[in-house]
Order: sequence, then C-alpha cells, then structure tokens
Amino acid sequence: MKIDSATGLLTGARQVLSPHCDARPAGMAPELLVVHGISLPPGEFGGPWIDRLFTGTLPAEAHPYFAEIEGLRASAHALIRRGGQIVQYVPFGARAWHAGKSAYRGREGCNDFSIGVELEGADGTPYTDAQYEALTALTAALLATYALLSADVITGHSDVAPGRKTDPWPVFDWNRFRVLLKERLAAQSN
Ligand SMILES: [Zn+2]
Repeated sequence: MKIDSATGLLTGARQVLSPHCDARPAGMAPELLVVHGISLPPGEFGGPWIDRLFTGTLPAEAHPYFAEIEGLRASAHALIRRGGQIVQYVPFGARAWHAGKSAYRGREGCNDFSIGVELEGADGTPYTDAQYEALTALTAALLATYALLSADVITGHSDVAPGRKTDPWPVFDWNRFRVLLKERLAAQSN
C-alpha cells in the first residue's frame, strides 16, 4: 500500500472524491490520526450510503435516518469496509470534515491537523480481521508519507469529541491495533 505524496492519493484504493473538503491552514500537515466508526443506516453494512453521504448525495427519502441528517456536510479521508476494502474520499494532504468540534490534548479544531479514517461498523459489533489488517497497512503507509505523524499519536473520535461522539465505540480493540502496527513497523525496518 502506497500513498502518492504529490496527490495525497492511495494507490489502488477506490477513489470517490468528495466536495466536502478544503485546504488545511497554511503550513499545516497531518500530525494526528483519528479513527472513526460509521454505518448507514446505523447498524446496517454494505450499500452505497456512506459514499452518498460523503459526496453530498444521500437521498433523504430513502430512510428515516437519512432525513434526520439531511444537509450534513461531512467527509473522511478514507473508509475501510467490512471486507477490508479501502475507499478514499479526500486526498490526505487536504482537510476532510470528519472531527467537527474537537480537541486533542487541548488543541482545538482537529480537522486542521488530522487524518480521519472511518471503519464501517456499529456499536456492539466487533470489527473484522480484514479491517484491522487494512487499518494497519494504511496507517503504516501514512506514517511513511507524512513525517509529522507518529504511531503514538493516534486517537478515536470519542476521545477528541467526548460527550458528543462515541465512535469507534468500545468494540474497537485499541490494543490489538497497536500490536499489529508495532509488528508491521518492526517488520518494515528489518
Ligand atoms: Zn466519527
């Protein structure tokens, strides 16, 4: 897995480019990785709805929940589907609109300096092995591309927006992810 640093695009990923993004503030580069969980409608996997939400084309009449979130302009840099497939919506160098009102260690506006990766999931449903593997590979590629990112500076949406967001929910196994990432990085440096 490789990221073209000039374009910020992940080689081999499906690209569904979102209009919900803009430039990072001048001189700012990714320093933080934020892990999210999402499913649309909540609890249902598969289907085109996450692509549609992030491209601003979610049909409000297709589900009562879609009517509730009508007009929401959100995106993430990438989504990892249940089978491990990666979809990219925003080039990693640009600012995606994933964290909302947020702060990391007292620093507000996490979208300015972070990369947001969504895992297709739901509270109470464990993520798949393929998702842990894809997230590990994607994180390793991001670390290799963006010098200010660090394996120690990875957080969840629930941590940067406490009281407002609960994803990626307690089902996300942080310890498992950290061990996989450590192993991957160690193997790469040999
Ligand atoms: Zn989130």
